[in-house]
Amino acid sequence: MLTVKENTAGSVAALARESYRDIALYSAPRGPFSVDLSDNTNLWGAPPAALRALAAVRQEELTRYPVAYEPALATALADYVGVSADMIACGCGSDDVLDSAIRAFAEPGELLCLPEPSFSMIPVFARANGLSPVSIPLTRSFDVDVDAMLETGARITYLCSPNNPTSGAPPRRLVEQIVENARGLVIIDQAYVEFGGDNYIDLASSGRPVLVTRTMSKAFGLAGLRVGYGIGSPELIGEVLKARGPYKVSALAERAAIAALESDRHWVADHVNEAIGNRSRFRAELAKRGIPSLESSANFVLVPVADCAAVSRRLERAGIRVRALPGLAGIGDAIRIAIAPWEMMQRCLDALGAT
Ligand code: PMP
Repeated sequence: MLTVKENTAGSVAALARESYRDIALYSAPRGPFSVDLSDNTNLWGAPPAALRALAAVRQEELTRYPVAYEPALATALADYVGVSADMIACGCGSDDVLDSAIRAFAEPGELLCLPEPSFSMIPVFARANGLSPVSIPLTRSFDVDVDAMLETGARITYLCSPNNPTSGAPPRRLVEQIVENARGLVIIDQAYVEFGGDNYIDLASSGRPVLVTRTMSKAFGLAGLRVGYGIGSPELIGEVLKARGPYKVSALAERAAIAALESDRHWVADHVNEAIGNRSRFRAELAKRGIPSLESSANFVLVPVADCAAVSRRLERAGIRVRALPGLAGIGDAIRIAIAPWEMMQRCLDALGAT
């Protein structure tokens, strides 16, 4: 019989990778909020064709494995963005594509450079893959600091356009300077591109090592399905898929995503337009109440506040959840508010006005 010895060297804490010690599990609590403006998803709903496709699932789509690397979904996404299917890598959310790309293009010990503040998962993915993240603060005008980023000589440079959480999009000229001069892979995260900022797919086809990542979680209203994708040269995409591995997108997710891409682009475009309209109106209403917000090209706005925990608690008492972001570099405390149908924005304004 196996006897369990007093052996601290065999404990999980002692066995786990040392470099993972200060990585915490992602925490995004859900609560009983009637209006959840905390995660920038599509509060108008999901594309009707995706819902119909899910209702019509066939038994063999559950009993059999999907086709490895999802060629049908890659073809539908390629048609949507205007490239060939061999330029697309799908993933379990764009998180999966980002994580795989980091693993594919840098050895443990190398540097990943990113602007700060930016997407909070990037330093986590970097560390989980053994890389050291180097955060370079945005300039006073919230632009990427091109020289400081290039000086790191990082193996991977991450940019986000529009940027989460600052909501603005970097000027194209700065992105191009980075792409032209970076030492290694440049990732341009465009999770919110449908709502504004430049399209960088041309850079992914430019012959430089550029990966543009996008998602069906935001404008397409399918965050629960977990479908994201990367766009790059066929050679680069091959490396990302190697690092990603087979069967990362479920057959159901693939089926529903294809249905939305084939039949509901107009549905997506209509709600994107409504979100853009509500974004201007919401920022104008905030300004009328003396509450400044940052210029936004995304489906959310960032509002600097003195004490984000206090403001979000007050909103929660009114049934509204927003994302509280304490101590952002160059900004301080802020709340991030997703743009939604107007009645939800009005409730948020009423609650904010009362603060
Ligand atoms: N990039 C950015 C900038 C994001 O804000 C998010 C999600 N919040 C993602 C990528 C990941 O999205 P997903 O995995 O759902 O595609």
